[in-house]
Amino acid sequence: MAIAALCSCGDDTVVKTDKLSIVTTIFPYYSFAKEITGDKAEVTQLISPGAEIHDFELTPKDILRIQNADIFIYNGGESDEWVEDILKSISSDVKILCMFDYADLIYEEDIDHNKGDEYDEHIWTSLSNDKKFVKTISGEIINKDKNNKEYYQSNTKAYLNRLNKLDEDFKSAVKNSANMPMVVADRFPLLYFVKEYGIKYESAFPGCTSETQPSIKTVTKLIDYTRNNNVPVVFHIDNSSDSLAKTICEDSNAKIKTFYSLHNITSEQSKQGATFMSLFEQNLKSLKEALG
Ligand SMILES: [Zn+2]
Repeated sequence: MAIAALCSCGDDTVVKTDKLSIVTTIFPYYSFAKEITGDKAEVTQLISPGAEIHDFELTPKDILRIQNADIFIYNGGESDEWVEDILKSISSDVKILCMFDYADLIYEEDIDHNKGDEYDEHIWTSLSNDKKFVKTISGEIINKDKNNKEYYQSNTKAYLNRLNKLDEDFKSAVKNSANMPMVVADRFPLLYFVKEYGIKYESAFPGCTSETQPSIKTVTKLIDYTRNNNVPVVFHIDNSSDSLAKTICEDSNAKIKTFYSLHNITSEQSKQGATFMSLFEQNLKSLKEALG
């Protein structure tokens, strides 16, 4: 039986390779799988760099990609409801990993009290969760490709060490700071992150809403807060406009910085080889400035 092993650069074909094939929905899990497998697997991110994950629509080619994979990794939660539907039609030899099953979950903030109890879906912004995900993904990779077991194990160990170090660095950054609240002039997908480190925050929206215009009352509150407390940094979220942050910063000394929530990366970042780790390290730098 001939199996074509071609590079992944031809975007129009879905080719079954003889390498281990891993398909992920979103960037964080793509990045983890790459760290573990190096050049020994074909890792594909279904939602391509630059695309908006909250209203992603699947093409027949995407379904084929999942069907041809050895391992399929998705997040779970509200934005991934489409996944559950297509999984019914996928053959059983694809190992399916839903990261929600391995996460410590927290409920999303529900200020309007109209959504009921739903878990916040941004589970990957917690490094404790990420360590669990990496262990789980690594275990399944080894199950599917025992020949490279030692290689995967050593990559996993090294990566977990880096995640631990980053986690410790965040803890000591918070501990050694004035612990000023993070001001986020944007949507707020960082509930897991701030809860993990006990960081206070002021944000324009309570969660990851599709709304773009906060109320005048909220804007005024953020402007006053920033000026009165001499806030050093006002954040906006990656893949989002900084126009609200600019408004909030006016007539204050605050700088505008991006906080990488890593729903996705841009195609520019993808070309530059950005990783979950490299962008979270930038978050650490920015946070140190922001907490005072
Ligand atoms: Zn979101």
